[in-house]
Amino acid sequence: MRNGIASLAALGFILSLAPLAWGKPTEPVPQEMPKDAVPYRTLTGTITRSDYEHYRQVPFDLPQGVTRVTIRFSYGGKDQKSVIDLGLADPERFRGWSGGSRDRMTLSIEDATPGYLPGPLPAGRWNLILGVPNVREGAEAPFEARIFIDRAPAVTAFEDDPLNDAPGWYRGDLHMHSGNSDGKCASQKGEKVSCPVYRTVEAAAARGLDFIALTDHNTTAHFDALRGLQGAFDKMLLLPGREVTTFFGHSNVFGPTDFLDFRTLSPTYGESAKWMDAVKKEGGIVSLNHAGAPSGEICMGCGWRIADLPPGTVQAVEVVNGGTMAETGSADSPLQGFGLWRKLLDSGQHVTAIGGSDNHNADIPAVRPGAIGTPTTVVYMRNLSTQAFIDGIRSGRAFIDIDGTRDRMLDIWAESENNKTTMGGTLFACRGASVKFVMSVKGVSTGTIDLLIDGEKHQFPANPEGRENVFDWESDGARHWISANVRAHDGRLLLVGNPIYIDVCP
Ligand SMILES: [Zn+2]
Ligand SMILES: [Zn+2]
Repeated sequence: MRNGIASLAALGFILSLAPLAWGKPTEPVPQEMPKDAVPYRTLTGTITRSDYEHYRQVPFDLPQGVTRVTIRFSYGGKDQKSVIDLGLADPERFRGWSGGSRDRMTLSIEDATPGYLPGPLPAGRWNLILGVPNVREGAEAPFEARIFIDRAPAVTAFEDDPLNDAPGWYRGDLHMHSGNSDGKCASQKGEKVSCPVYRTVEAAAARGLDFIALTDHNTTAHFDALRGLQGAFDKMLLLPGREVTTFFGHSNVFGPTDFLDFRTLSPTYGESAKWMDAVKKEGGIVSLNHAGAPSGEICMGCGWRIADLPPGTVQAVEVVNGGTMAETGSADSPLQGFGLWRKLLDSGQHVTAIGGSDNHNADIPAVRPGAIGTPTTVVYMRNLSTQAFIDGIRSGRAFIDIDGTRDRMLDIWAESENNKTTMGGTLFACRGASVKFVMSVKGVSTGTIDLLIDGEKHQFPANPEGRENVFDWESDGARHWISANVRAHDGRLLLVGNPIYIDVCP
């Protein structure tokens, strides 16, 4: 593998190997890249008048097996009106041009910064193409290009920095389809056509959601459009998601963007695990979709049939599916995912209950079951970013808002003598220890709370908004999971909480 700097010198370019006088570039390191990320190559040089109205090629060599290349570019001399335009070529073809409008770009097989072509990243000689529309006589414009590479697929973020730095509760929809699979919307003539990604994203933004996952079936074709749209939708996080759709069940994957081989031929975990293992390795999460749906000719492949999932394989279950709500008229019909979720919880796994509209038509009016945002999953996140979402789902501090409101809240915490935890957390309690559960409900004026101890229901009236509901419980020294749901006065399910896990005392 040849060093990019040496290659430049060999080609006789003017190089500035000394530290650049105008200082280090100050643009933030992307959120998906650790702050101390080390560039694979740093290419430096100086543009002078001899480059005026010329294109300079700055070569670098990519090794085999690169899955993403990311370039950060900066240059000086702007006070003297020096301008450097930017483009890129791989060993075989031109990969894009951003002129003077970008100082960063990223390319992978599935997605690329607008203006650049996604696709394979061949090993060999690449060239940054620097166009110089202006550099004055006697002026010097030092430049620096930092090249970062990934050699293995990983969680991808379409945003460089958090869309919102504040920790808090964020509301989103984790399941919907565009025209990259079977999502429809109305054409200009009113025909039902394959829905372009931007229409689905716009419909979600109109619902005021904080994040969405567009989860087209098996394909990775929507990721490039999502990267292109994220910049314009700077209040709504676009999560990388897809619905891995097999003959033995559907599941959403959040985080990775590389191809996952869905062609599993057996409901036996070991033979089906290839893609689930890949997601785990890449740091993404798996959610089992509409797990109680029937299979067979009624809904081919819909019900979840892959049994004996080892702990850590699945991080979430879609217990409320908007499509199932629309068909059964109920958020907690036996066809929803509660049964499988409880089974996993009873087996000792910590798995987060989430909801998703499973929208297939972006034009369905808001609030109707199956419309984008109905239901909504509300997640406590340290900020509004892809990694914070993944960590938030893993933490289990999340609830489902069946009607997709903007104001209903459910938070639960538990405390015993010397420890305290929130939804998704574990509390260690010795036999005889008293545990206080506090359930905070907002946006529901009257109704009831179902307190579920290992799924067994204890019902009591919900206090009016702003007041807390307290339940005292004495530990029997065994493991349990305890969660709470909120119902309207007519019994309709409104909010679904996640468990607090009680573990044996150390
Ligand atoms: Zn499905
Ligand atoms: Zn779906």
